Amino acid sequence: MEQHFEIIIIGGSYAGLQAALTLGRARKRTLVIDSGAPCNRFTPHSHNFLTHDGAVPASIAMAGRQELAAYPTVHFLEDKALTARQTGNGFEILTAAGQLYQAAKLVFATGIRDIFPDIPGFAACWGKTVIHCPFCHGYELRDQPTGVFGPADAIFDFSKLLVNWAHDIILFPDGAASFTEEQLAKLQQHQIRLVTVPVQTILQEGGRVRAVQTADGQQFPLNALYARIPFEQHCDIPAHLGCKLTNTGHLEVDAMGKTSVEGVFAAGDNTSPMRSVAMAVMRGQMVAAAITHDLAHATF
Ligand SMILES: Cc1cc2nc3c(=O)[nH]c(=O)nc-3n(C[C@H](O)[C@H](O)[C@H](O)COP(=O)(O)OP(=O)(O)OC[C@H]3O[C@@H](n4cnc5c(N)ncnc54)[C@H](O)[C@@H]3O)c2cc1C
Repeated sequence: MEQHFEIIIIGGSYAGLQAALTLGRARKRTLVIDSGAPCNRFTPHSHNFLTHDGAVPASIAMAGRQELAAYPTVHFLEDKALTARQTGNGFEILTAAGQLYQAAKLVFATGIRDIFPDIPGFAACWGKTVIHCPFCHGYELRDQPTGVFGPADAIFDFSKLLVNWAHDIILFPDGAASFTEEQLAKLQQHQIRLVTVPVQTILQEGGRVRAVQTADGQQFPLNALYARIPFEQHCDIPAHLGCKLTNTGHLEVDAMGKTSVEGVFAAGDNTSPMRSVAMAVMRGQMVAAAITHDLAHATF
């Protein structure tokens, strides 16, 4: 396969595939390198993406890959980028298969990796009934007894949103349960219960939450649990290239997806807490347009 491209996109899920589609339509020689581990692979159905509401996540990506096949300047490679280095006129990527590829511009559409708490049952339910986003899964789990797990401040704010979808809500703060008098009054006003004993286990069957058990042995029957959990960048290459991170741990980008390193762009979950397929697609298209503009200005 060819080794020199105008653009290399690392990460070929929603953000990366959309960037590739837009670049292919702009006739740019583009390589997509993807290691096949999108963050939503744990969820059986993806919601809230127009024309694909309720689709199996991998089927959305596969449809994208099939559409890319119509564009001869776009190549898709199943491999993992290991390192990147700056060269005189761009960047060189080394992959796990031992191949080297060069390009003038890089796009990181590499997503983030959720860090699960060490709670038995959590991983089995993640993406099914232990979920991160009510816009993605709240409708399917509406009006169910619902828990919220995470840092106290985050879950208090989250509970304001959640009353759109559930009315029987219990908060399980992870760590110090420091709520103000005002916050406690609000919780009471909305009949949101607060359990300050640490969560010990999620009792579940086949990914369906049945109850949360706390360290004192009490069980709280639930059918859904929202979790605000930490994350890390899925790929550390941007950091090694010198790309700045925000204080939330996302790659710092401008409105068009340019990172702090000239020639390096980023799109999707790795740049923003607004996490959805539609948002990733939007950001993928944005960087592709920005790169096409940059290359046009440089060569006109
Ligand atoms: C459990 C769960 C359920 C969700 N449900 C929904 C939903 O119902 N609706 C919705 O709109 N959104 C949902 N989301 C959010 C949505 O999945 C993400 O916003 C979206 O996947 C982000 O797309 P992305 O392309 O930025 O990153 P990802 O989809 O995470 O893809 C990143 C890609 O980069 C690749 N990669 C990383 N590092 C490298 C490397 N070094 N070399 C090569 N490839 C690399 C990975 O293998 C992966 O394929 C869900 C998220 C989770 C975690």
